[in-house]
Amino acid sequence: MMPAPSPVGTAPARSPLRRNDASDARPRSTPDGQVRRIVLAGEAIDYRVVRAKRSSIGMNVGLAGLTVRASRWVSIREIESTLAQHSEWILRQLAWWQERRRDVLPQAWKTGAPILYQGRELALALRPAHRKEIAADLLNLTVLHPSPHDEESIAAFVVHWLKDEALRLALPLVEATAARITDSPPSVALSNARSEWGSCNRNGEIRLSWRLVHLPPRLAHYVVAHEVAHLVELNHSPRFWALVETLFPGHAAARRALQDWTALLE
Ligand SMILES: [Zn+2]
Repeated sequence: MMPAPSPVGTAPARSPLRRNDASDARPRSTPDGQVRRIVLAGEAIDYRVVRAKRSSIGMNVGLAGLTVRASRWVSIREIESTLAQHSEWILRQLAWWQERRRDVLPQAWKTGAPILYQGRELALALRPAHRKEIAADLLNLTVLHPSPHDEESIAAFVVHWLKDEALRLALPLVEATAARITDSPPSVALSNARSEWGSCNRNGEIRLSWRLVHLPPRLAHYVVAHEVAHLVELNHSPRFWALVETLFPGHAAARRALQDWTALLE
């Protein structure tokens, strides 16, 4: 369970930052820090400034946009000069994530359309067949279907399959992870939640977003470990995080990386 407004856990970041026209450049405060705008190589870029205890200026680009972390002693002028020095890298990263955002599910369900499966971008390959079937390999998501040109049917069939996959991939992981810390196996169900990757309640019921199927397996695994740890510690105390670390060594890095993908939920 991830009680708001705690910034921990697998709850998503705030709404994604989009690149807009530069007409409204006033900084705004959000729970995650201040949102500002800078023009890099002629392009208006929104970025979030988070004040943190650190000696250097940290930059991160994820699905939700550019985030800068700096101590509160660092001026905006210093931050912007650092951003300007790294503008090429920033624009390249933003473009990469822009692609991911677009390619989570196809806009048109046609052969060649990109789809995100377990952190990999696959190309849809639609083939006529009597029997409906789907298979993923390294490059393609091959869909056999009686009406390969009926986009609505294809979309429904593929999304249904993705949900099945989400459960197929997560269930053994939940069971194996839970078996390490409790004798009572949790009940697991998929959710369509737009607000979180997963949740756990005091009845030992774990809900997982079916969109976990889009994530690199390691990050989905972290979400599972996080929720399973809540079976024993229904809080975000130091004891909880120590338990997560036991179940998923190196969890802090995965937790940070997951932040880059949270906009997938929105
Ligand atoms: Zn949690």
